[in-house]
Amino acid sequence: MLWREKAEVGEGSMLKSVKEIFTDCTLCYHSCGTVVTVEDGKAIEVEGLKTHPLNQGMLCPKGRAALENVYDPHRLKYPLKKVNGNFERITWDQALTEIAEKLFLSRHTVNTHRKRIYKKLRDLKSE
Ligand code: SF4
Repeated sequence: MLWREKAEVGEGSMLKSVKEIFTDCTLCYHSCGTVVTVEDGKAIEVEGLKTHPLNQGMLCPKGRAALENVYDPHRLKYPLKKVNGNFERITWDQALTEIAEKLFLSRHTVNTHRKRIYKKLRDLKSE
């Protein structure tokens, strides 16, 4: 991540530090280049990076609204689990444990199917 001091604005104790941080949008796989303006440690603006070869300064609406992921009062702030049609708050430890178990089971199921398919193909080939 690159950044540069953009300016210090204000006078005396009202002096504000303004930085531009050069980074990528991570809201989808395109990874558009972005410039985030940070004032006194708080991101206040996201723009497209004009010199980026992919987006050339453009951002889609999702990328332009990226700060909402940080500051929107309605964003998710903790894990929720759907139980009997309703969402219930759970701890991060519970969420990570349950997701890890499901990923492990899913991987095991895929590997089992893959082995069956390869065995069938080998059987077909040897006939
Ligand atoms: S700006 Fe839009 S297209 Fe680009 S990475 Fe972000 S979400 Fe994807």
